[in-house]
Amino acid sequence: MIPKYTLRCVQGGETVPEHYTLSCPDGHPSLLRAEYATKQLTVRDLPGIFRFSDWLPVHGSLPVDAGPVTFHSEALSRELGLSSLVIGFNGYWPERGGTIMTCSFKELEALPTVVRMQEQRPATLVIASAGNTARAFLQVSALTGIPVVVVVPETAVSRLWTTAPVNNAVVIAVKGDYTDAIRFSKEVCSIPRFLEEGGAKNVARRDGMGTVMLDAAVTIGHMPDYYFQAIGSGTGGIAAYEAALRLIGDGRFGFALPSLHLSQNLPFVPMVSAWNEQRRHFVPETDMPDAKAAISKVYSDVLTNREPPYAIAGGVFDSLSATNGQMYAVTNEEAKVAEKLFMEFEGPDLDPAASVCVASLIRACESGMIEKKKTVLLNITGGGYQRVREDFALIAVRPSFTVEAGASIESIQKELLELVKTHV
Ligand SMILES: *Cc1c(COP(=O)(O)O)cnc(C)c1O
Repeated sequence: MIPKYTLRCVQGGETVPEHYTLSCPDGHPSLLRAEYATKQLTVRDLPGIFRFSDWLPVHGSLPVDAGPVTFHSEALSRELGLSSLVIGFNGYWPERGGTIMTCSFKELEALPTVVRMQEQRPATLVIASAGNTARAFLQVSALTGIPVVVVVPETAVSRLWTTAPVNNAVVIAVKGDYTDAIRFSKEVCSIPRFLEEGGAKNVARRDGMGTVMLDAAVTIGHMPDYYFQAIGSGTGGIAAYEAALRLIGDGRFGFALPSLHLSQNLPFVPMVSAWNEQRRHFVPETDMPDAKAAISKVYSDVLTNREPPYAIAGGVFDSLSATNGQMYAVTNEEAKVAEKLFMEFEGPDLDPAASVCVASLIRACESGMIEKKKTVLLNITGGGYQRVREDFALIAVRPSFTVEAGASIESIQKELLELVKTHV
């Protein structure tokens, strides 16, 4: 029997066995990519994101409605002088069919990831997050009972809430930034049967995010010319590129790759800095000087990954290169102005990262970076927080542990194992 999908090393080109595999066993500094046996996409009669199950690295599905939503913008499109502005809305907006309760596209990553884990390597999944990813995985855990451990910077704890009670998850807060949380999550994964979720290296996460591009293509009948997204790791940009490659292979949605227009928030803009000099590798003094201070000043801290998959084969640099991409460095002020404009013309409130993205689109329109007659897909990666608060009694999720940045696992290992045994 032909397997539904195989994993391939982007750099070496060899196929790789699937055991929730995250990196190339031959040691190539490369992402793995899922290749699907089905070359033509059939939109399935399954809930939410699982409509796109053909191109997700899972066999089963979950009874969760969260999925991408695509619509043609009228008001904002006219305001910006665009002929065809298509919005991919990932958040809570019931009138438009937006049912992502935790209000960001991280739920699109969480859903296929937990299914892939259960099918390929049942374990306790460990997720490091600046907040939105943690909330997404906690929500999926709440709805399905699938156990997770999430590790977040202490400053993100106030963003941990769900719309259903969480009974099978443990939260660890780290006194540091997102990168410190990532480092501590690696400590947790040193315990047997605790599995690193994998971030950008996880094909389920990328192909989950890639459904934004798929939904846009099936909704409007073709791929867009431009794809706008604010990035911290760039996983969503890579995912959009990979989804577009599959759509080209499908043959019904056009044959030109959408150009990636990706943005970061000043003063922390390492990928903009490196890309503008056409460098694959970061020069930390140039690209992220005084990183901690810069990170503390941005409007959108989900965009502040210090170790993004930029240089790795198949990563952000390659995706920008392949699609003739552009990067934008957006100020806090521009983001806030863009947010007001979006709310005025389209309605819902935005995640600050989505505001950064809207600001980049405004800049692109004003500076002639794009042809206004062409089709723009604007990925609103998060929004609808005000509305979800009105419609649901949100349940705050508290940390079980708080650790110092750079702490080792020994300090909490025994207690964590006991907690996981009884609750997870
Ligand atoms: C994580 C996140 C981003 C950045 O996504 P990446 O593609 O992983 O860099 C943008 N917007 C929101 C709302 C997010 O939560």
